[in-house]
Amino acid sequence: MALPVRESHLYIGVSNRVRYTIYMTKQTILTGIRSNEEPTIANYLGAFVPMVRMQQELAGEYQINMFVPDLHSFTTPVDHDDLYAKTLMNLKYFIAAGLDIDDQDTYIYRQSYIPAHSELTWVLDCFTYVGEMSRMTQFKDKSGENSDSITMGLYNYPVLMAADILLYGATYVPVGEDQFQHLEITRDIASRFNNKFGDVFTVPLDTKAQTSFINRDSGLRIRSLSDPTKKMSKSATDEKSKILLSDSPEVAKQKIMSATTDSVGEIHYNFETQPGISSLLQMYALLTGRKQEEVNAQWEGKSQYGEFKAVVASAVADFLEHFQARLAAISDEELLAKLERSERAMTEVANQTLLRAQQAVGLRPRA
Ligand code: ATP
Ligand code: MG
Repeated sequence: MALPVRESHLYIGVSNRVRYTIYMTKQTILTGIRSNEEPTIANYLGAFVPMVRMQQELAGEYQINMFVPDLHSFTTPVDHDDLYAKTLMNLKYFIAAGLDIDDQDTYIYRQSYIPAHSELTWVLDCFTYVGEMSRMTQFKDKSGENSDSITMGLYNYPVLMAADILLYGATYVPVGEDQFQHLEITRDIASRFNNKFGDVFTVPLDTKAQTSFINRDSGLRIRSLSDPTKKMSKSATDEKSKILLSDSPEVAKQKIMSATTDSVGEIHYNFETQPGISSLLQMYALLTGRKQEEVNAQWEGKSQYGEFKAVVASAVADFLEHFQARLAAISDEELLAKLERSERAMTEVANQTLLRAQQAVGLRPRA
């Protein structure tokens, strides 16, 4: 029943006697691009840049599926009036960060445009236990006390994520620590299904193997500008704590100038004793592409915090100016054309897997 190789299944033609099919042997790396929140400069440095680097280094050898989990984006309340626009905008942020949409091995698609995600979720739901879902720590953390206002979507989130992964036979799913448990449940659901029905799904590698394959979360933690003992977070309500990629260069400059530092009086790169100054040194090195040691050596022991902040502020402003210019130059038509091409190709792949699952459970005749 199951096909032997299905990492990427490319159908190229039919004659009246022979159906030509090529099985590509490239393994698939699958990664989601968050869709509905305004990213910060920390998200840029900690997530966008490494993802673009991954594409540059691994496309060719691997197939890279980058999808926008738009179905996942309203498991907790959002403003639906601008969800669609924000979904496209977030993709543009990645492109402005250097993602190459012309790369032949990279597929960029929206989850909701491939109905198999929703359909497979239902099938998997019926092989997933309430007990195991109730143990998901992210659900427990986000759901709090009042279960009347918690949606089924939030509860079911990991099963949809399992469908996202299993539909494409993805082996590599580089996720941060907060998603480890969801990756493990994907492996559990897939193995359970395979044990019952035969080899229907490719089981993704475990989190240890994922971590050693791509260290996407390098541990970089740009600090909050108002409380540098905490990390910068896009969901923080204090606007002064974060630099949004949509901030004007002027506003960003002011935020850096008023960033909380310390009363040591000398500049040292030490996150324990001077987290504010150290985070600024780090941000400066990353944005200018200079070596950390070189930047540190230039400022080490100096007492001019104001002068130092002005230099960082101007590097941040320069970065935003260039970034925003690249953003404005992205063509909507080209982006939509890429999405539609990828969505067509990935619908084919996803439907093959869905059909195998449907045959397994008896919804379709077995071949
Ligand atoms: P939220 O406040 O909603 O949790 P966030 O800013 O922490 O938002 P996430 O959506 O949790 O962002 O994570 C998106 C990506 O950004 C992850 O890869 C994460 O490692 C990275 N990231 C988040 N915060 C930082 C930070 N302060 N420094 C570097 N990378 C970060
Ligand atoms: Mg976070």
